[in-house]
Amino acid sequence: MDIAEKLMLEISARRDDLVTLTQDLIRIPTLNPPGENYREICDFLDRRLVRSGFHTELIRAEGTPGDSDRYPRWNLVARRDGAGPGDCVHFNSHIDVVEVGRGWTTDPFGGEVRDGKIHGRGACDMKGGLAASIIAAEAFIAVCPGFHGAIEISGTADEESGGFGGVAYLAEQGFFSPERVQHVIIPEPLNKDRICLGHRGVWWAEIETHGEIAHGSMPFLGDCAVRHMGAVMTEMEASLFPLLASKRTTMPVVPDGAKQSTLNINSIHGGEAEQEADYTGLPSPCVPDSCRMVIDRRFLIEEDIDEVQEEVFNVLETVAARRENFHYDVREIQRVLPTMTEKSAPVVQSVAKAIGAVMGKDPQYVVSPGTYDQKHIDRIGKLKNCIAYGPGILDLAHKPDEYVGIDDMVESAQVMGRSLLDLLDQV
Ligand SMILES: [Zn+2]
Repeated sequence: MDIAEKLMLEISARRDDLVTLTQDLIRIPTLNPPGENYREICDFLDRRLVRSGFHTELIRAEGTPGDSDRYPRWNLVARRDGAGPGDCVHFNSHIDVVEVGRGWTTDPFGGEVRDGKIHGRGACDMKGGLAASIIAAEAFIAVCPGFHGAIEISGTADEESGGFGGVAYLAEQGFFSPERVQHVIIPEPLNKDRICLGHRGVWWAEIETHGEIAHGSMPFLGDCAVRHMGAVMTEMEASLFPLLASKRTTMPVVPDGAKQSTLNINSIHGGEAEQEADYTGLPSPCVPDSCRMVIDRRFLIEEDIDEVQEEVFNVLETVAARRENFHYDVREIQRVLPTMTEKSAPVVQSVAKAIGAVMGKDPQYVVSPGTYDQKHIDRIGKLKNCIAYGPGILDLAHKPDEYVGIDDMVESAQVMGRSLLDLLDQV
C-alpha cells in the first residue's frame, strides 16, 4: 500500500474522533458579539494539540476592537516542526460563531448527530472545518513521522466581526510572514469540492444628510433631513443601482448574483431615537435634523476603490445641484480591497490535485461574495499563497439548524491530508 492510501485509511479510521471533536467545539458557545468563551475554546484546542506534539502559543489581541477583561480576544497558534527544514502549511480557522437567531429544531450548542450530520451553531461555519484540519494533521503526522517542514493550526477570534482581534492582529505580529508560513488553507465552508481563491472588495460608509429641527406641526419652519435622504435614495435607484448592475466581473464569484457590483443599504436612522420596547410614551413632534444611512458596497477586482467612492459622491452631488439646502457628510467605516490568488499558486495546485484523487473530479474554483480572513493574510501578512477550502455547505452558514455532513468532513480531511503529503517533503 502506498503512503497516500495509508493516509486515507488513517483519516477514515479517525471518523469517530472527528465527530466527537466537532461536537466538543460546538458545545463551547463562542458567540460573537460579544466574544464569549474564547479562552475556553483556546484552552481546549491547546490541550488537544499539545497532546499531538504541537508547540502552542496563546495570544491575546489586547486593545483590539471588543477586547476587554470581560471579553478578552484570545487566539491559539500551534506549530509542529518536522524532522528537517521545509515549507510550513498553516490551517487557519476562526473560533467565533454568530448569534443563534430563531427557528432552530435542535439545541444550537448541543452538537446533536442526526442522519449523518452534526447540528449546531458553527457546525459548518466553521468548527467542522477546524476539526477536519486537526484530524488531517494528526493523521499525517502518524503516517509520516519523518516529514520535513512544519504544520501550523490556528484558532482565531472575531472573523465574523472583521478579524481585527484575530488574524489581523496575528499578521501584524508576524505570524503570517512569508518567512514563517508558505501555504495557508482556511477551512471555511465553501463545499468540499470547491477551492475559494479570494473575495470581492468592501467599502462601508455612512452618509448623513442634515436639516433643521422645528415643531412637527410647522415643518416649513425647519428642514427635514429624512426627505433629503429620500432624494438620495431616489437618485440611487435612478442612476447608481443600474450602473452597478451593468458591471460584471471575470472573478468566478458565487452565487451568480454576486458576479456584479452590489450595494446594500444596511440601515437608515432619522429623527428621534427609537425607545426601549417597554416604553409606553408617545413620540414628540419634531422635524428631523439628521438622517444617517449605512451603505455596504461590494466591488470587483476590475474596479478601483476611488472610482467606487466617486460613484457615491456623484449621486450626492447630483442631488445637491437640484435641491435647496442639501448638505451631507460621508464617513468611511471600513475598506477591504478585493483579493484573488492565482490558480497557478502551489497551494491551489496541491488542493486541486488532492480533490481529484479523493473525489475523482476537478475542483470548481470560486470567489466569495463576502470577505473573510484572507484579506489580512494578503494585505498585512503579504502572503498570496492562500485559499479557503473546507467542508460544509456555504448556504447553511449563519442559518437556523446549521449542520455539517460527517462524510463531507472525512473527505475534506482527506483532501487536506493529501495536500500535506504533496506540500511537505517526506524522507
Ligand atoms: Zn466563517
